[in-house]
Amino acid sequence: MIIMKFGGTSLGTAESIQNVFRIVRDRVDQDPVLVVSAHAGVTNSLVEIARTAPGGDADVSEIEDLHHRLLQDLDLPVALLDEQLGEMADLVQGMKLVSEASPRVRDLLLSFGERCSARVVAAYFNQQGLPAQAVDAFEVGLRTDSNFGRARPVADDGRIAKNMSKLEGIPILTGFLGQDADGNITTLGRNGSDFSAALFGNALDAAEIQIWTDVDGVMTADPRLVEGARPIPFMSFGEASELAYYGGKVLHPATILPAIEKSIPVRVLNTHNPDNPGTVILPVYDESSSPVRAVVHKKDIHLITLVSPPMLQQHGFLAKVFRIAEAHEVDVDLVATSEVSITMTADRADHLPAFCEELGELGEVSVEPDHALICVVGQGIAHTHGIAAQVLGTLFEAGVHVRVISQGAIKVNIGLVIQQVDLKKAVTALHSHFF
Ligand code: ASP
Ligand code: MG
Repeated sequence: MIIMKFGGTSLGTAESIQNVFRIVRDRVDQDPVLVVSAHAGVTNSLVEIARTAPGGDADVSEIEDLHHRLLQDLDLPVALLDEQLGEMADLVQGMKLVSEASPRVRDLLLSFGERCSARVVAAYFNQQGLPAQAVDAFEVGLRTDSNFGRARPVADDGRIAKNMSKLEGIPILTGFLGQDADGNITTLGRNGSDFSAALFGNALDAAEIQIWTDVDGVMTADPRLVEGARPIPFMSFGEASELAYYGGKVLHPATILPAIEKSIPVRVLNTHNPDNPGTVILPVYDESSSPVRAVVHKKDIHLITLVSPPMLQQHGFLAKVFRIAEAHEVDVDLVATSEVSITMTADRADHLPAFCEELGELGEVSVEPDHALICVVGQGIAHTHGIAAQVLGTLFEAGVHVRVISQGAIKVNIGLVIQQVDLKKAVTALHSHFF
């Protein structure tokens, strides 16, 4: 079987639900199990209701209207969700009465988004002649701890597969939701449905986990900057982790760990272009593939240099520097050190003055704005001789001055800092060299 996960934007309107139906119908022979998010916008509205209900002025009518409109547009009985929407309204009423929204109650409230969307999708599939059944993840045994709002799954002992083997038709599972040992409904954190898809894929030994979004997968470079950028057909988990950080926000790598654990490929696909193979993230690295996977970047980087003669042969110096960065919530992406200096990048312009002031107690600090970070990502960098030379040679020929360079020993990437004015020139030159 395969897992097919559809996010809120893929289920936001009647047309998009009809599109999802066609995509699934064309793949029934692969034995799909669906994992769905709440309809677009619903979780955000529920978060807002949880915030305002204790003060007494939350309004559920917007959420009710949204679901009723979808049901009407899909020619489904308007009373289909009466039970769920009724329970939701009662809960909000209760929250107003007791002027309270505990994390436990908040998760219960948020759960109605996915509980409703799974029922809408299942009802539409049945209406179209494709037998399907809405399934609440907490009813089939997706167990978590009691960390409401960000619950972590507890190990599955086979109960999920056992419970699900009794179901008839295509299961339409709620993403995002679990249940703690006391029977309370929990949520896995915002955008948790990808995580749910990986957990169910793991529990059911899926042949593939498909994450359906609205892009053709992960790109070799930012298409807004580089004309020849194209989707990456496949990459390793290590590469996906590096890429996720640089604008490749299609997938958070931590969410697919349960898939990696069981060596299940994860494929990112486009609901608007379903026949495109998208990008597949493979649990193992294919050594025969080309060494470089993508050239990505991050803009508006500040280059901070700290020169401190006493750093010479002094232990604990870097620890001090990073403790200060931590205290000021400054995210350091790239570091280069010498015996007397440390150069690092930071992207939180608003926090920098205070950060640099405290850093000044350790030595002389200089800050240079308007820089960009380029990252050449590819697991093959470790096995291929001379990639760094090619990177530097290409930039030299393009007339780009490299300010800092960093390559870790695991060599999944080469990081470079350049002046922002050179960004397009640099990324374009590297991309045409490697692709
Ligand atoms: N509906 C949840 C959210 O918006 C989970 C998800 O979409 O993945 O965060
Ligand atoms: Mg989402």
